[in-house]
Amino acid sequence: MRVAVVGAGASGLAALKCCLDEGLAATCFERSQDIGGLWRYTESIEEGRPSLYASVVSNTSKEMSAFSDFPYPEDFPVFLPHARLLEYLRRYAERFALRQHIQLGTTVVSVRKRPDFATSGQWDVVTEAGGTRTSHVFDAVMVCNGNFWDPSLPLHAFPGIEKFQGQYFHSRQYKHPDVFRGKRVLVVGMGNSGVDIAVEASRVATKVTLSTSRGAWVISRVFDHGYPWDMVFNTRFMSLLRNSLPGPLARGLISHRVNRWFKHENYGLVRVNVTARKPVLNDDLPSYIITGRITIKPGVKEFKKNSVVFYNYPEEEPVDIVVFCTGYNATFPFLEEADVKVENKHASLYKYVFPTHLQRPTLAVLGLIKTLGAIMPVAEMQARWVTRVFKGLCQLPPRSAMEAEVMKRSKILKIDWIVYLDEIASFIGAKPSVLALLFSDPKLAFTIFFGPCTSYQFRLQGPGRWDGARQAIRTQWDRMLKPTRTRATSVSSSPWPSLLTVFGFLLLMAAVVFAFQ
Ligand code: NAP
Repeated sequence: MRVAVVGAGASGLAALKCCLDEGLAATCFERSQDIGGLWRYTESIEEGRPSLYASVVSNTSKEMSAFSDFPYPEDFPVFLPHARLLEYLRRYAERFALRQHIQLGTTVVSVRKRPDFATSGQWDVVTEAGGTRTSHVFDAVMVCNGNFWDPSLPLHAFPGIEKFQGQYFHSRQYKHPDVFRGKRVLVVGMGNSGVDIAVEASRVATKVTLSTSRGAWVISRVFDHGYPWDMVFNTRFMSLLRNSLPGPLARGLISHRVNRWFKHENYGLVRVNVTARKPVLNDDLPSYIITGRITIKPGVKEFKKNSVVFYNYPEEEPVDIVVFCTGYNATFPFLEEADVKVENKHASLYKYVFPTHLQRPTLAVLGLIKTLGAIMPVAEMQARWVTRVFKGLCQLPPRSAMEAEVMKRSKILKIDWIVYLDEIASFIGAKPSVLALLFSDPKLAFTIFFGPCTSYQFRLQGPGRWDGARQAIRTQWDRMLKPTRTRATSVSSSPWPSLLTVFGFLLLMAAVVFAFQ
């Protein structure tokens, strides 16, 4: 079976590796001159290529971001500057001999169903390299072209922008803070880009204002007791708690937890719609607000020649430069619109992966889901499932059931990272059985249930089982601590809170009875 993988970023590399694991003949097409996608930082801003700013650091920790059979080296920092993340991807490509299957400098121009698609499920794929077009036939296609390269710049939503005489640009064009030196800066939109750019700008600008219509929870990478936020937040135990408690109680607890660092209300950041968006990861924002380097303002009402007016705010604010951090569109220029429908930045896909209306399940989109956790293990899990669907070893439900799932999900605003991973893993038989492990390997069961849900858990059983998985789980805290424990101390510290250790076993027993039978 021949599979085309579009894009050699993190998702594309995982897709390629999973195809090879399943014995599929895969070819990966990458339009730029090297692998790494978003994480391959370049100074230039190329059309159609994702763009990063020089200082970007991953929002998820290395243990939680690792592919499931390839832990990060222990000397890598806990959160990764782009160069280290790229280095990891290069090592991954090296380790699994992926490069020979990748055609660099090759753009996928079109992917179309063949006339006999209803029976063959095949696709006509046209690529272009060095000005020459080539036609191929593939049995299946995995779309991994990323969703952070087509900027969403809804200028119509900002009346008066045509009168504004200062400079403005989308965050995609931002590289270095020098552009803000001595300027009065307005950053519009409080996603991760907006907050990162506001913090950087405030080191050189005269004044920085961050405008947000909805506000956001801000959480620090450095969580309880200094552990990475995602190793504390994304545990099975915490996920079970979050999803079992009544909605208002769960939201109340989350609100209490995030306000422990700083009270969002006092910093102008209280969220207008608590369910509507992911928290923002930033370690500096509260201290920059409290030291007056960043001012938070409501949404933009209109622009004037040299200033901006905010909703429900009496004073106009003089501005020299505006950065629109208004996010990205999910775009698939090589596909027919009918094959993957994108509405309101959301694609209608079964489990965020498969179009529901194709006669044959031979087209899959990876990495489109937005959830509070690392995307790399998610894309990899999707790829493991997809390859087995392509091979006919896993079946998709009937079209009506898939459409019902898409419809139901469109009303759910947040997807729990672990619940999603478990669900996809269960389709291929790779979801770890905590109950079974409790009898065969209680220590591992305890670690899996209360510890961080690292992706190695999904290599303990099922197709693609990895002998190193147990050891990788056992040593996950060692790899996390190694780069920060650089000065020996005599004080011993355990990552397990003692209370948890005492009550853990009982809780585990109760939880597995209710949740994992
Ligand atoms: P984003 O998360 O989609 O946020 C865009 C924001 O723009 C919205 O939340 C909204 O902010 C504002 N906005 C959108 N449409 C608007 C409109 N019509 N009018 C006014 N405001 C509008 O975009 P992003 O911050 O560029 O992030 C994109 C992705 O990259 C995210 O998944 C993010 O986590 C990721 N990222 C990661 C890192 C990292 O790993 N370090 C860094 C940057 C980005 P308000 O509701 O506040 O008004």
